Amino acid sequence: MSVSAVPPPLSPPAARPPADGAPGPEEIRVPELVTLDRVITGVITVVPPLLLVLAGWRLWNNQLHWRDVGIFLVMYTATGLGVTVGFHRLLTHRAFRTRPWLRGLWAVLGTMSIEGPVISWVADHRKHHAYSDRLGDPHSPHVDSGGGWRGALRGLAHAHVGWLFDHQQRGAQERYAPDLIADPVVAFVDRTFILWSLLGLAIPFGLGVMLGGTVTAGLDALLWGGAVRVLVLHHVTYSINSLCHFFGYRSYATEDHSRNLAWLAPLSFGEAWHNNHHAFPTSAFHGMARREIDISGLVISGMERLGLAWEVQRVAPERRARKAIR
Ligand SMILES: [Zn+2]
Ligand SMILES: [Zn+2]
Repeated sequence: MSVSAVPPPLSPPAARPPADGAPGPEEIRVPELVTLDRVITGVITVVPPLLLVLAGWRLWNNQLHWRDVGIFLVMYTATGLGVTVGFHRLLTHRAFRTRPWLRGLWAVLGTMSIEGPVISWVADHRKHHAYSDRLGDPHSPHVDSGGGWRGALRGLAHAHVGWLFDHQQRGAQERYAPDLIADPVVAFVDRTFILWSLLGLAIPFGLGVMLGGTVTAGLDALLWGGAVRVLVLHHVTYSINSLCHFFGYRSYATEDHSRNLAWLAPLSFGEAWHNNHHAFPTSAFHGMARREIDISGLVISGMERLGLAWEVQRVAPERRARKAIR
């Protein structure tokens, strides 16, 4: 199938089922190799915090070099935008179109964040939009967690990281991402995700050896540009699912608890304008007010100016005004 014949995306607002509708079995990913999956997820969750202790010890002993800070920033920005511009705005929501090579590059950069294969990521996220904050949402802090502060903490823990170990409501790829299964570029990156995840570790190591001249310099760069970078990016991504459905302000009426969390916006490249995003999921720009700086949106504008992005989705002011709640 040619790329241009890829079916139109599942439009999350249109796909939202009636308020009392629960997901059918065809919408839920059948759990496979659950124990192995949990072990791998556990290793990816636990090893970076342990390495953070090592990083702290190196820092305490004045072993942090400016080149490690630089490599951290380069890797964080490249893989973070891979998730926000690539996985999220381009591949999940089709907020703009681009050339196949650039679609592949964004998918590769996102995969280097070690958040799993791209098609699983997209299927889970589209299901989150279809059922946000009700039964069927893979990671809502508001479903089945009980009342009071204990319920709130349980909900936040589930939305943050618990859902990765609990496979009951993940999105079935055939139902939620048929367009990406049919996209040869994205399907290839999805199949080979282990290679790209490892490349995301090899690059900081290689840069460290190149710039520092020793294997120790490479290992230090791997620690900061690999482990610490993965840890920070994971928890920023997870915070969109947990904190941004709990804390912050609401600008637009939506059927969920999504919120805009200003302090998380710079770290998440604009993804923390999450209430805006739930109100207008296909918009390429999540920052809506003048003060809501949206780095991913600026990157998409830049690509558009260079002729590398087109059909960039924008929300007309009248549409915004109709949903505005303040
Ligand atoms: Zn959300
Ligand atoms: Zn989204």
